[in-house]
Amino acid sequence: MEKADIKSWNQTELKEFLVSLGEQPFRAKQVYSWLHVKHAETFEEMTDISKKLKDKLTNTCELAVLHKEKVQCSQVDGTRKYLFSLADGNMVESVLMHYRHGDSVCISSQVGCRMGCQFCASALGGLVRNLTPAEMLEQVYQIQKDSGRRVSHVVVMGMGEPLDNYGNLLKFIRMISDGNGLNISQRNLTISTCGIVPNIYHLAEEGLQVTLALSLHAPSQEKRLLLMPVAKKYGVIQVVEACRHYVQQTGRRITFEYSLVAGANDGEADARQLAGLIRGINCHVNLIPVNPVKGRGFVPPSRQATLNFKNKLEKYGINVTIRREMGQDIDGACGQLRRRFSER
Ligand code: SAH
Repeated sequence: MEKADIKSWNQTELKEFLVSLGEQPFRAKQVYSWLHVKHAETFEEMTDISKKLKDKLTNTCELAVLHKEKVQCSQVDGTRKYLFSLADGNMVESVLMHYRHGDSVCISSQVGCRMGCQFCASALGGLVRNLTPAEMLEQVYQIQKDSGRRVSHVVVMGMGEPLDNYGNLLKFIRMISDGNGLNISQRNLTISTCGIVPNIYHLAEEGLQVTLALSLHAPSQEKRLLLMPVAKKYGVIQVVEACRHYVQQTGRRITFEYSLVAGANDGEADARQLAGLIRGINCHVNLIPVNPVKGRGFVPPSRQATLNFKNKLEKYGINVTIRREMGQDIDGACGQLRRRFSER
């Protein structure tokens, strides 16, 4: 019999399971705390539950634990990049960034990705599989354990498309912000999507306070199609409309991510068109000079061209920042560490 993935259960599910084993309902809180606050890696460690229950759990449940394969530390800004292996041998990447406002962790939501964005390293091998809620949580738990500091912010911006793993993502959001778990404020969670329109509408109805980031990357349907195949299915007007709805429904300001590619989307006309496209939405634009990925041939604009683009957007009244590049000396763009590791 396959063992149950106990770390992916919320408290209600855990309670139902323990009651079905003949335990008192209050045990759920204890076990949940061992899993999600004390981060026990074995059932043996759970000192305040009976030997009988520990044995039952050992026989029926597995404890998803990620294994640290490799850690790279930036000499420049202290950013740490982690390569974790999962129980089935697959690997994912996560990143720890240290800011004045706290420690932020960037996690992966899938092994690989099927969205096929042209500039992205994670797209190169296609999708292998979705991550479970436990595997998403574990990236944060392991990093917190490793650094010895509390993680205050989580961004789902690593490998994978979070809205292509919707059910597990939702569970992850609710469990990481659960008062009986790590209790990270939903306002400190950011979900980055390439624009799966129906799931943006669903997310708007979940009663959450998370920040949505849309990877826009182009000011028109024509240009977006050249970079992001997802635009074939969900056009740029449709996706921006969905974002407008998300802001209205949740009251949360949205982030538009815009990777600047020299000669492709960084001209003055692009800036003007972009400003027109998102006009009237409570938003913030984050410019990211594209990170060159081996075999892709995309080049970032010069510093000056990047600044010109930013100034132009500001002139149109758009709130805009240029993403501070963290950990440039350690395989910057997402998916690069995993690829380099598997090439060896
Ligand atoms: N699938 C999600 C999250 C993963 S990527 C999404 O599409 O948003 C996180 C961000 O990094 C996205 O905005 C993505 O488009 C961007 N990105 C990926 N590869 C990049 C590269 N080589 N240079 C710059 N940005 C990149």
